Amino acid sequence: MRFRLVVLGAGFGGLELTTILSDALGDAIDIALIDKADAFVFGFSKLDVMFGRRGAAEVRHPYRDIVKPGVRFLKRTVRSIDPAARRVVTDDGVFEADVLVVALGADLDPAATPGLVEGGNEFYSVAGALALREVLPRFERGAAIIGVTGKSFKCPPAPSEAALLLHDFLAARGRREATEISLVMPFGTPIPPSPDTSRAILAAFQERGIRFVKDNLVKALDPSRKVAVLSDGTEMPCELFLGVPVHRVPEVVVESGLAVDAFGWVPVNKQTLETKFPGVYAVGDVNGVGTPKAGVFAEGAARVVAAAIIAQLRGGPSPEAYKGTGSCYVEFGHGRVGRVDVDFLSGPKPTGTFQEPSEALVQEKAQFGSSRLQRWFGRPAAPEL
Ligand SMILES: Cc1cc2nc3c(=O)[nH]c(=O)nc-3n(C[C@H](O)[C@H](O)[C@H](O)COP(=O)(O)OP(=O)(O)OC[C@H]3O[C@@H](n4cnc5c(N)ncnc54)[C@H](O)[C@@H]3O)c2cc1C
Repeated sequence: MRFRLVVLGAGFGGLELTTILSDALGDAIDIALIDKADAFVFGFSKLDVMFGRRGAAEVRHPYRDIVKPGVRFLKRTVRSIDPAARRVVTDDGVFEADVLVVALGADLDPAATPGLVEGGNEFYSVAGALALREVLPRFERGAAIIGVTGKSFKCPPAPSEAALLLHDFLAARGRREATEISLVMPFGTPIPPSPDTSRAILAAFQERGIRFVKDNLVKALDPSRKVAVLSDGTEMPCELFLGVPVHRVPEVVVESGLAVDAFGWVPVNKQTLETKFPGVYAVGDVNGVGTPKAGVFAEGAARVVAAAIIAQLRGGPSPEAYKGTGSCYVEFGHGRVGRVDVDFLSGPKPTGTFQEPSEALVQEKAQFGSSRLQRWFGRPAAPEL
């Protein structure tokens, strides 16, 4: 019988893992790639959708396009995971694995913030970004807040990017004078591991009159009084709220015993990404390895797990340890993109280096997206932006 790999989740982590293994092992391995969705969407495309830069259909990359030796994409919802038996129950069938990889990401829980569903908006889901497309053109005056509502969230630069892009959006409509923009974040600076990146973002905020409210979360909205309540108890006027919802470990993962509770990201061996259950790995946003929740880190983790599986099958040397490094592109508005390269695990504390925003980095970010599409979906590279 062929070696059975079951991969739960076809996001950044699951797609990278299956691509490497299919390229290396072809039909010698049976990979079941399981996801409840029928298409992949890059996280950063949500910013494009909300500000009307790209259409919703344009940013969806259907899984039916995956045709790779050894890989079966299966549209299923995972109902339960038994990590000790490496057995998964879905809404349509049971899957048993020699190696099981959990790459189910982080779930969003807007209802965890009182008032957010009734009186605010979120831009972290495709549905939220699409809804904002209708809301933003109607915002003509008053205070806008981009607010983080939980301590752990995907893509730490994204709230700063949203603030800068909102400035451009309002300025293009002649509404910037009549509006205020504030960003509420749980950090002391926008990108704590990289002081240079933080300085550049704060300078861009100052130039554009964007207020940075540090070391705070938005704990609640009171739509009747049009205020946002922060974790330090202060209140801010709020006509328009663009929220980063509370992130939580998917319920099915908590129920499996892989995570202790909704905020206990799956513990893994920091070098191998293996959980306490032999042959069960956790890759990407779902794990608690200590790197940011971003696609580039999910990819890095997938590479380590792929190398371990190849070594297991071919009997080669053990793979290199997970490095916890990655590059993130940062939208600065005015059509420019900067870049931060961060290293979370090799030193005593995370560090980061900054590349100034430029036209060249706009092209590089587009190439980042199109190269993934080509590799994962096997289609010719298409321009991303
Ligand atoms: C606004 C925004 C901007 C971002 N910008 C960037 C960026 O510029 N660069 C970057 O690197 N990252 C960025 N990110 C973060 C990035 O999108 C995530 O960190 C990345 O997708 C994580 O990969 P993953 O494989 O761990 O999980 P995901 O990509 O989230 O994949 C998880 C998959 O699991 C599936 N799933 C969940 N539960 C079930 C279930 N019960 N049954 C079946 N399937 C299930 C989901 O459908 C999903 O496809 C951004 C995110 C946002 C929201």
